Amino acid sequence: MLNKVLIANRGEIACRIIQACHELKLTVVAVYSEADADSLHVSLADEAVCVGPPANKDSYLNVANIISAAVITGADAIHPGYGNLSENPDFAEACEACKITFIGPPSQVIARMGDKAAARRVMREAGVPVVPGSANGIRDFPDARAIADELGYPIMIKAAQGGGGRGIRVIHNPEQMAEAIDQARAEANSSFGDGELYLEKYIEEPRHVEVQILADNHGNIVHLGERECSIQYRHQKLLEESPSPAVSSSLRRRLGEAAIKAAQAVDYQNAGTVEFLLDERRRFYFIEMNTRIQVEHPVTEMLTGVDIVREQIRIAAGEKLSCEQGQIWFNGHALECRILAADGDRDFAPSPGRISQWQTPVGPGLRIDSGVTTGSIISSHYDPMIAKVICWDQTRAGVIARMEGALQGFKVEGIRTTIPYHLRILGNAYFRRGEIDTHFLERRMESDKGG
Ligand code: ADP
Ligand code: ADP
Ligand code: MG
Repeated sequence: MLNKVLIANRGEIACRIIQACHELKLTVVAVYSEADADSLHVSLADEAVCVGPPANKDSYLNVANIISAAVITGADAIHPGYGNLSENPDFAEACEACKITFIGPPSQVIARMGDKAAARRVMREAGVPVVPGSANGIRDFPDARAIADELGYPIMIKAAQGGGGRGIRVIHNPEQMAEAIDQARAEANSSFGDGELYLEKYIEEPRHVEVQILADNHGNIVHLGERECSIQYRHQKLLEESPSPAVSSSLRRRLGEAAIKAAQAVDYQNAGTVEFLLDERRRFYFIEMNTRIQVEHPVTEMLTGVDIVREQIRIAAGEKLSCEQGQIWFNGHALECRILAADGDRDFAPSPGRISQWQTPVGPGLRIDSGVTTGSIISSHYDPMIAKVICWDQTRAGVIARMEGALQGFKVEGIRTTIPYHLRILGNAYFRRGEIDTHFLERRMESDKGG
């Protein structure tokens, strides 16, 4: 049994996890940086510990301070949220060493899937289709040239330890290779402290379709269907929905089976997401597994009624999954908009500042996961995502209309947000027809064309 959970995160996901803990009658310890003393997640928690100065690396990434905070407050578990330390195997291992339950998979599983080049190998051996690419990390430039010549151009160069869309380069011919490798390696080194790269065939007009899975420590595993996450800027998701307009029930069954196979191949435990690309012929390919709760998990929660964060905590406490595959239903349609403190019309330039007014809409089929309130200070030290709006309705057209109404119901002053940009996406004719791929924003939004 767990009694007290420390949440090693901030913002909307910390608030979301606090709600799940309180439902389960668990005491919550928040951690915060010096910049976040007055933030919403601190005020919602039962106890709070300052873990360092504002910069992420000094506070929310400060393993020693976070573990100390858990020990001092007597927390018996840590939920890492997403980003920050959530996919850091050393952190999970430090928890294990201190007899603190890490709410996520075992550290070895995080390590295995965290190396994306190695994960591809594991999946291929397990019979999960992967994007054609290098069998391992690339050694040097001639090695990369030889592999690329064999695969054919265009090629995507990716960081083995990559995440958040960083360390990725697309090249269309061999002449671009040397410079792109240098750039990707430099970005990978500075973002992830590891310069290892690998190659994948570039899929021309893919959809990003991912499958949510849940696995307990008793060998039970289910999938909760797919999320379509093709609306991306710089390889980062902006709007997600489920079901995917491109996924039939038979494709859903095959995707679900592949995701479960992927999870079983690494003895997965807890919540995880298997990401696939879907090509124009509806063939799917594994790209990576995220070993954590994802930003867009509420889409699946709205559709299935399964509380994924509650399941995560129950699984970590050693309980069995609360549902079997046959009890999971995909009902209606769900849509999420990530609200960033950023200007969608200026290349998503961050817009820090003080929120002088924050008024949110109300209505049926509407969920707002927010980490801010009137008076909150948006600091440039952190990710600009401040809230998520999630809507549900029986049909796709219905949920789009509901989302438009919800976004129009926001009154936010003091900072810029992506709400006007989201409204343009929702009004786009291609989007409304479900004709989307990962290039939607650059190709379909520039002139709002779509006929
Ligand atoms: P998810 O896979 O859950 O949808 P993303 O792929 O958008 O999340 O981002 C992956 C992780 O990287 C998230 O945990 C997010 O907090 C973090 N992240 C997203 N954007 C950035 C950024 N610009 N800088 C640093 N971290 C980021
Ligand atoms: P990250 O770890 O940064 O999330 P991913 O491997 O998940 O990186 O890829 C991020 C995004 O980049 C995908 O959602 C997709 O839009 C694009 N992408 C990744 N691999 C390919 C590929 N082989 N071909 C085309 N697009 C790709
Ligand atoms: Mg990804």
